Amino acid sequence: MSGPAREEIEGVLDLVVRETRAYLDSVDERPLRDPKADAFADGFAGPLPERGSGGLEAIRELLDQGVPASVTSSGPRFFHYVIGGVTPAALGAAWLTDALDQNSGLWDAAPLGGAAGEVGLEWLRELFGLPSGWASTFVTGGTMANYVGLAAGRRWCGLQRGIDVEEQGLAELPAIPVLSSGYIHSTARKAVAMLGLGRGRIRTFEWDAAGRLDVEALDAALGEIDGPAIVIANAGEVNAGDFDPISEMADLAERHGAWLHVDGAFGLFAALSPRSRHLVDGVERAHSVGTDGHKWLNVPYDTGMAFVRDPELLDGAFSVTAAYLTTAESRSNLMRRTPESSQRARGLAVWATLRAYGREGYREMVEAHLDLAQRVAARVDDAPDLERLAEVPLNIVCFRYRPDGVEDPQAIDEVNRRIGHEILADGRVYVGTTTYEGKVAFRPAIVNWRTREEDVDLLVDVIRELGSRLS
Ligand SMILES: *Cc1c(COP(=O)(O)O)cnc(C)c1O
Repeated sequence: MSGPAREEIEGVLDLVVRETRAYLDSVDERPLRDPKADAFADGFAGPLPERGSGGLEAIRELLDQGVPASVTSSGPRFFHYVIGGVTPAALGAAWLTDALDQNSGLWDAAPLGGAAGEVGLEWLRELFGLPSGWASTFVTGGTMANYVGLAAGRRWCGLQRGIDVEEQGLAELPAIPVLSSGYIHSTARKAVAMLGLGRGRIRTFEWDAAGRLDVEALDAALGEIDGPAIVIANAGEVNAGDFDPISEMADLAERHGAWLHVDGAFGLFAALSPRSRHLVDGVERAHSVGTDGHKWLNVPYDTGMAFVRDPELLDGAFSVTAAYLTTAESRSNLMRRTPESSQRARGLAVWATLRAYGREGYREMVEAHLDLAQRVAARVDDAPDLERLAEVPLNIVCFRYRPDGVEDPQAIDEVNRRIGHEILADGRVYVGTTTYEGKVAFRPAIVNWRTREEDVDLLVDVIRELGSRLS
């Protein structure tokens, strides 16, 4: 007998619990990346085993090889991209999710997944201050949350012209205009591409090199469009954590009869604190909103959420029917509201983490991150060899190293590029670079519940240290 056996479970779980505990005990301090991580990652290669090694052996190998191949992105000193950690409650719930292995796309297959999901989504809607009555759904992440919101918008645009896009396709429709600011995220462009609206047709209106919205130009462009259009507002762009003026865009959408989608992958969490709530004012007037769970909510990958004002548009965009799908119409079937059909019970981790920490716990976490971002900004401003490039409205600080006596812009960019390269190998902190207003810059994002003052201080210190060594 070489297939899976019941007797393996105890040994596999004991091993995983023991090793995971040791890993998480070390996660605050362990290096961000093993210098040989790539080699360990390549070590997974090999021929398909004719005879397997058994569960325990396979998991032991996975631990031996996999942990050194991993990056400590669930730890407090990972500031690259926008990558959250996992709260203890979310971790416990996620493990349970896999053990129970519910297909939460179908109520009669998994009332647990459906129910926890519905409650979790409603709690989130309330947390974000979105109106009751909106429909919501889980997806794999922010990209698909944008896809879902924009799909509802596409359906709406079609219906304005008497076309059911899901039934009839796009062939009989004029192109659907999609407009945004220069802050539009690459994955919103991807969603537009996947929807057949043409990534290359997106028009952006910006008045500066950072990409800030030119409201008047957007207004004028919408005025020239005959028929429905989609406007994408960006709640939190990834270079400096800045926001489009959502209220003004809601005014324009209303005046010109356009669909307003808000990409709030991480920025929607500004709604959780009275200190940052103003940044998302107007989001409640949007037609659809997308956000991420695996960023600032600190639940595991892969969790995103989409909210749509008109439930019928969401159902219309993703409904399915088949003779064997027998669940009573009265119970909600997640698969009728998402691109995916069968799906993991993502709602368990969301429910558990909100149950565990509540509105207050999440407000405190967001505010702690706002404080940490201001702390970084203050330390950057105090350092003679650092230069801040943007205001810090939320949780991202955009700055660069500024070597003494070097004036050539290309030389300054080059030093920052080299620090950016070096820092990933250094292993004490992890942070990425971007180009902001034409300048190579760092853009640490603070979204992990574990991150402390000492962690952000180390980030600034390491950049200065590497900068002085490399310039
Ligand atoms: C991360 C991000 C996305 C994409 O989310 P995924 O979860 O990676 O699919 C979209 N928009 C913004 C603003 C983001 O920061």
